[in-house]
Amino acid sequence: MLNLTHTKVKTLLATAPKSQKVTVKGWVRTRRGNKNVAFIALNDGSVIHNIQIVADPNNFNEELMKNITTGSCLRVTGNLVESLGSGQPVEIQATEIELYGSADPNVYPLQKKGHSMEFLREIAHLRPRTNTFGAVLRVRHAMSYAIHKYFNDNGFYYLHTPIITGSDAEGAGEMFQVTTLNLHNLPKTPEGQIDFSLDFFARPTNLTVSGQLEGELGALALGEIYTFGPTFRAENSNTPRHLAEFWMVEPEMAFYEIRDNMDLAEDFVKYLVRYALDHCADDLAFFNQMYDKELLERLQVVATNDFVRLTYTEAVDILMKSGQKWEFPVDWGTDLQAEHERYLVEKHFVKPVILTDYPKKIKAFYMYQNEDKKTVRGMDVLFPKIGEIIGGSQREHRLDKLVERMREMNVPEKEMWWYLDTRRFGTAPHSGFGLGFERLILFITGMSNIRDVIPFPRTPRNAEF
Ligand code: ATP
Ligand code: MN
Repeated sequence: MLNLTHTKVKTLLATAPKSQKVTVKGWVRTRRGNKNVAFIALNDGSVIHNIQIVADPNNFNEELMKNITTGSCLRVTGNLVESLGSGQPVEIQATEIELYGSADPNVYPLQKKGHSMEFLREIAHLRPRTNTFGAVLRVRHAMSYAIHKYFNDNGFYYLHTPIITGSDAEGAGEMFQVTTLNLHNLPKTPEGQIDFSLDFFARPTNLTVSGQLEGELGALALGEIYTFGPTFRAENSNTPRHLAEFWMVEPEMAFYEIRDNMDLAEDFVKYLVRYALDHCADDLAFFNQMYDKELLERLQVVATNDFVRLTYTEAVDILMKSGQKWEFPVDWGTDLQAEHERYLVEKHFVKPVILTDYPKKIKAFYMYQNEDKKTVRGMDVLFPKIGEIIGGSQREHRLDKLVERMREMNVPEKEMWWYLDTRRFGTAPHSGFGLGFERLILFITGMSNIRDVIPFPRTPRNAEF
């Protein structure tokens, strides 16, 4: 067992105080007091709460005491005692203080007053030191761990799919190109096109928009796999729910049909919500109090209710009869917008909703085609406040149907030879979906902008840090 000389604040706050000698290291959140006593709130990121340090300034070097200001970093050794003040169970009576680093109060931007989210985005390198971002980052960690745990416990294998890809066939969004060609002097073919044969991979390449197609290759060998990695979309959508770089969880399962896929999606997200309620209680209580008074209630609703399942056609019917004024009008065949999705979830059913059987013309080529020739076995999971959190489908595993659809949609068959091989050799019904990790974190934390649930957001015209 790891046995360091200093102890985490989280551990100390749960330790019975017996005046034992302890050492803690962390950053000063606030300091108050007078000539005879200083109260220092120290935080080390292990938990949202601070530990209170009590020091008699007369026992310490004057210069040192002057430098103990918000943001400075300290080592404190002292005795852990029961706290007489309200608000904390224990405190440390300091006997030694070492200043690791000061933080000039005239320039350190994170002073005690609250800061706007917009301002904090401009100092994304420092915002992890705020209560809010500390909590977001701990929840991100807990959810990452829970994702791996869920799949591991259910017999799924973690498959690493490529970040750089030669296939741009998925059509999930605009792609970022990857090249080492000199952009100031591009080599040209005799026909005047860019000569990609001279590029690093001797072909055009992009950053992946999804690991799905490679995930299918894994599922048709290992049974059940999942990917969990960064994905990139150069879509110019400046919304609170889109990033240019985001993390996606993509399970892909052999022998699952659409109903199994829905069952997995529902069980999986409920597990994650329950995991957060059980393991992130302090941080969730903070979000509930500071950002969203209905957060805990909403998490409970998702964790304890059966999701409503209905077809796209039934949903369109409900929306058209709703009497609502829409910004984007609804009729059969158009893609649903966030306003429609949220109406279904928040107003009509007041529960999460899984929609299936979308018109084939608004969905990707690889979705299983229904008998009706009009719809495919796509499935979206819609959540309160978020709208779409999961998108998935049963995949078209019948070679002839798949090829037919690729031709209709101008998907290059030749380039996709490896994908089609899975349908040529031992094809099998299979399904999968993608969960946007940051959308999940938005839901779990009640934060309202996706830029505030990832450490360093990438959005149009922004790649600082
Ligand atoms: P949307 O309609 O919301 O743009 P999409 O239909 O393009 O989503 P999919 O291609 O199905 O999304 O991707 C699967 C999941 O990835 C989505 O359900 C969502 O949770 C997440 N996602 C998609 N695009 C983004 C993005 N730009 N930023 C963050 N998460 C995203
Ligand atoms: Mn999109």
